[in-house]
Amino acid sequence: MTRTVALIVAAGRGTRFGGPVPKQYCALGGPAVLARTIAAFRDHPAIAAVQVVIHPDDRERYDAAVIGLDLLPPVAGGASRQDSVRLGLESLADAPPDLVLIHDAARPFLDAAAIDRVIAALGEAEGAVAALPVTDTVKRQDAAGNSAGTVDRTGLWRAQTPQGFRFPAILAAHREAPAEGLTDDAAVAERAGLAVRLVPGDERNFKITTEDDLRRAEAMLTETSPTSPSGAPSAAPAWEFRMGMGFDVHRFGPGDRVWLCGVAVPHDRGLIGHSDADVGLHALTDAVLGAIGAGDIGHHFPPSDPQWKGAPSDLFLAHAGRLVAERGGSIAQLDVTLICERPKIGPHRPAMVARIGEILGLAPDRVSVKATTTEQLGFTGRGEGMAAQAIATVRLPAGQDV
Ligand code: MG
Repeated sequence: MTRTVALIVAAGRGTRFGGPVPKQYCALGGPAVLARTIAAFRDHPAIAAVQVVIHPDDRERYDAAVIGLDLLPPVAGGASRQDSVRLGLESLADAPPDLVLIHDAARPFLDAAAIDRVIAALGEAEGAVAALPVTDTVKRQDAAGNSAGTVDRTGLWRAQTPQGFRFPAILAAHREAPAEGLTDDAAVAERAGLAVRLVPGDERNFKITTEDDLRRAEAMLTETSPTSPSGAPSAAPAWEFRMGMGFDVHRFGPGDRVWLCGVAVPHDRGLIGHSDADVGLHALTDAVLGAIGAGDIGHHFPPSDPQWKGAPSDLFLAHAGRLVAERGGSIAQLDVTLICERPKIGPHRPAMVARIGEILGLAPDRVSVKATTTEQLGFTGRGEGMAAQAIATVRLPAGQDV
């Protein structure tokens, strides 16, 4: 099994931040920024261990921030970010992981789906970087402070972290890199000739650099509450929630198993369909698409297209999840009900919850799978087929027209 370690760079002094406490140790709704960043990786099933690189002067702050967490012992960083990452990588070299995800301590709003996208891309490339396309018009400024022209933004992306790499390749690249202050690890990798894939990041995954950023982060934590802690009305929430529903039916036919919510359930019949006929994943896919107004499953994956014949339906749901991420959103919660007399769903429910979470990078408590019969009434009651209905709740940047 692939072993993936998260390397969190927390050695900066936050000189642009101005305050007495480096930004990664500032409290953010209780815990330190760093503790929230660590949690994003500790809560992710694909991450085996978390290693933090700290400034030697911050040891007490670090110990206080991570109390009770099971982490690798912290490593002292160097004079520059590049140095600190190299020292962090060296600390892992004795028991080298297969993959390392390097992440800024001051990006606490990393979600599991972004981690998934970086890891998935490392199946094909030596490096993968969470990034966002540049949407603003880009200007170049001359020495007098005037615009010296407009830069073509075609193909320009803003690099975030995590930046993931196959471990031996990035360790070698860092060892060979001159101390020239390369500002991210992708630059170190590019310099060494490694292929680095850009995968969609997330607008929420911003870096806390200024006091204003910290206030924005605090506002994001309380965005769903109607009033501020002082009782005064809060500013307009930066996020809004949208819901979508999905429904699907497939007919029983010959076979020895049915695919339900991504799990093969032994049965004396199969379900007939162009794909694997997974009614649960189809209903969920339509619910997610519905929440972002992105049509339905047949629009994205026409049954007339032979490439979807026999396709595993996790492709459809993962696609819907990517569309949410591309809009800067995330899936808050999914709930699906499977409707049949047989097979029995209960014994398979934990595996179904886990599989749906895996497909979308969601924690299990955001996924619900339920089942019901129809008391032997109707087509499901007569055992002619199965139905599923689902609802999805999606969080999107407020005011976004999707
Ligand atoms: Mg279907």
